[in-house]
Amino acid sequence: MSLLVVGSVAFDGIESPYGKVDKALGGAATYFAVAASYFTHVDLVGIVGDDFTSKDAAIFRGRHIDTEGLEHAEGKTFFWAGKYSQNLNERVTLTTDLNVFAEFKPKLPEKYKQAKYVFLANIAPELQRDVLHQVRVRPKLAALDTMNYWIERSNAELRETLKHVDILMINDSETRELSNEHNLLRAAKHIFKMGPQTLVVKRGEYGAMLVDQNGVFCVPAFPLEEPHDPTGAGDSFAGGFMGYLAGAGQKNDAALRRAMVYGSVMGSFTVEKFGLDRLRSLKRTEIHARARHFLKLTQFKL
Ligand code: AMP
Repeated sequence: MSLLVVGSVAFDGIESPYGKVDKALGGAATYFAVAASYFTHVDLVGIVGDDFTSKDAAIFRGRHIDTEGLEHAEGKTFFWAGKYSQNLNERVTLTTDLNVFAEFKPKLPEKYKQAKYVFLANIAPELQRDVLHQVRVRPKLAALDTMNYWIERSNAELRETLKHVDILMINDSETRELSNEHNLLRAAKHIFKMGPQTLVVKRGEYGAMLVDQNGVFCVPAFPLEEPHDPTGAGDSFAGGFMGYLAGAGQKNDAALRRAMVYGSVMGSFTVEKFGLDRLRSLKRTEIHARARHFLKLTQFKL
């Protein structure tokens, strides 16, 4: 089943203890779409500027990604730059230049409007809501990611958008900031009152946690000896998670648990190299082998 994503397609500047790139292809929707395309067909909605070349667009070609919804506008593509701490656990944002995103009015191609699975990647909450409203029938599953930038600048808009989604998928510090609650389980209760009935907390090297009416399910992060660049790991997690669910056409508890594992698998591949380098060269067999490895990582007898 096809999966619709709206979010940033960007150029990123990345500094980690393992190296520095001034301008690499990135963006939340890019990581998401590439990760999800290993599981299902993806319809991409976003905007790029005239500095986004056909060579850049090659990342989407030869995959199950439809780019009719990727608008090309005059001006510069969204630019973000960030710098990681020595242990890669902390990141500071150095630059956020919205550029063409500042004037973006998403317009879904007709064929996208039947989407059953929707992912609202990290962009302005009013744009996320606008996209959701253009989908004809209420999707089987709508999930949303956001970040401190929007929690602080567009809190009221974000809360309005949250009323319309099933799953909120954010990192631990954002969960705390949005809910004003340090404890993640108590934070989940606050968030359920805002709309989403499922919370997925991405916790970097500590894995991810899903909380819903059935309880709590946790997956570890895949232990890596040489992580290089965590940029896009969260979006790749989301791509693996939603891609798996859309591909399987299910959303029951067992499917959600498998989706958590595939999310963690895709996030772990992204971290192995800079930018999209690892994700773009991945094979399906590697994905399934790593998912099986998770069984070994977490199984025990009592
Ligand atoms: P992640 O590491 O998963 O949090 O996502 C990193 C990606 O998010 C980068 O490729 C950025 O281009 C993109 N990004 C960073 N800040 C924003 C923002 N304010 N709005 C949309 N996308 C962003």
